[in-house]
Amino acid sequence: MKPCPRCKKRFPPSGFYQKQSRCKSCVKLRVREWEKKNRTRSNDAKKRWQLANPEKRWNRAHPEKFREALRNSYQKDRSKYLKRCRAYYKTPAGFLTSTFSSMKVNSIARGHQPPKFTKQELGEWIFKQKKFWLTWNSYILGGGQKNERPSVDRLNARLGYSFKNIRLVTWKENNSANHSSLEHSQRAKKTCEKRWAEYGRRKRT
Ligand SMILES: [Zn+2]
Repeated sequence: MKPCPRCKKRFPPSGFYQKQSRCKSCVKLRVREWEKKNRTRSNDAKKRWQLANPEKRWNRAHPEKFREALRNSYQKDRSKYLKRCRAYYKTPAGFLTSTFSSMKVNSIARGHQPPKFTKQELGEWIFKQKKFWLTWNSYILGGGQKNERPSVDRLNARLGYSFKNIRLVTWKENNSANHSSLEHSQRAKKTCEKRWAEYGRRKRT
């Protein structure tokens, strides 16, 4: 047993890091204080380390623990989490994320090829359009009504998402163009459900 010069508690050798006189929890405390005072430097250093060691990152090295921690933190503060999600949904970055992920899902449901661009490329395409920012501003100023939200429409409904086949519209425009008749929308729903079921079977086997 060795005493820690900081907190004066006594610990076995396992309570200390190599070459550190303070105990493990005192060392951790000091690191956290340093990080707080040097937020930018610390974040940059962490990012660099993560990029250099993707496989050593805690979420990769311990996927089960990571999933459990996510689940716990979600259940601990569900309403806060949902609030944050909703707030993110109403930011341009959240728009890009939600648009790209629904493109991937819809492509599967429709039996099309996945989008022919990356999320980043889609972001460049969206954010350099004046129309996006005009629509976005009125969407936000209007209180974030669903039918005012911009969305990405395919010109030819038989083809998947590629830059040649997409255009920016408001959600309302998109929906009235695609689901002009009740019969059409019901047929589309049926096809989507069938494709989802097929996709699920493929994934399981
Ligand atoms: Zn200590």
